[in-house]
Amino acid sequence: MSETTKTHDWPQPYRLLDAEPYWEALADERLTYQRCGDCEQAVWPAHSFCTHCGSAELAWVRSAGHGTVYSHSTIMRGPTPVWAGIAPYTVGFVRLDEGYFLFTQIDEAPDTVEIGMEVSVRFVRRGEQVLPVFARVAPGREA
Ligand SMILES: [Zn+2]
Repeated sequence: MSETTKTHDWPQPYRLLDAEPYWEALADERLTYQRCGDCEQAVWPAHSFCTHCGSAELAWVRSAGHGTVYSHSTIMRGPTPVWAGIAPYTVGFVRLDEGYFLFTQIDEAPDTVEIGMEVSVRFVRRGEQVLPVFARVAPGREA
């Protein structure tokens, strides 16, 4: 989808301190998440301790940015003028291959989005911030 909205109109995300490495990596178009050095589980959203075992041994690792749609909902009326400018648009949870869920925009025509659909990340600049959105993986194409 093309976006003709002025970039400075986009509301900016609220950046929690624990997630600062996530936002910095996005600026370089890298999707990252935390993985526990003790139980090896993916941890997301960002924490200062593992939500599975309580360990403080968390490391930031790069995600391949590939997964499937877990749930989705289409917004018909945007909450602000910039969002209204791209409505209708679809948001939802993507289950990443690395074992965590990300709430995100699914940048496809709303009536084509399905649970279980294979998607991969792409990056969009909105205001000062680069954000991940997900789009369908074309059949027969590498994710
Ligand atoms: Zn752990």
